Amino acid sequence: MYAVAAIIEEACIAGKGCRLCMVYCPEADTILYDPIRQVAVVKVDRCKGCELCVLVCSKHHAIQMVHR
Ligand code: SF4
Ligand code: SF4
Repeated sequence: MYAVAAIIEEACIAGKGCRLCMVYCPEADTILYDPIRQVAVVKVDRCKGCELCVLVCSKHHAIQMVHR
């Protein structure tokens, strides 16, 4: 068991154009943009737990690692 990324939607500014986590995540199609809720969404079954997305979102603190 390992931790996977989870978006803190109240803090995510994807609706304003931020795509940092989606660009830097090394796993394809793992962090996607939800155009309806205007936030990033993690496909937890694809997340490998590398925490790179947490690092790149260090300004807005909108991603945390959670145990599945
Ligand atoms: S880097 Fe952070 S603020 Fe930007 S889209 Fe990803 S979760 Fe949202
Ligand atoms: S922890 Fe790594 S694999 Fe998982 S969503 Fe973040 S960058 Fe992608």
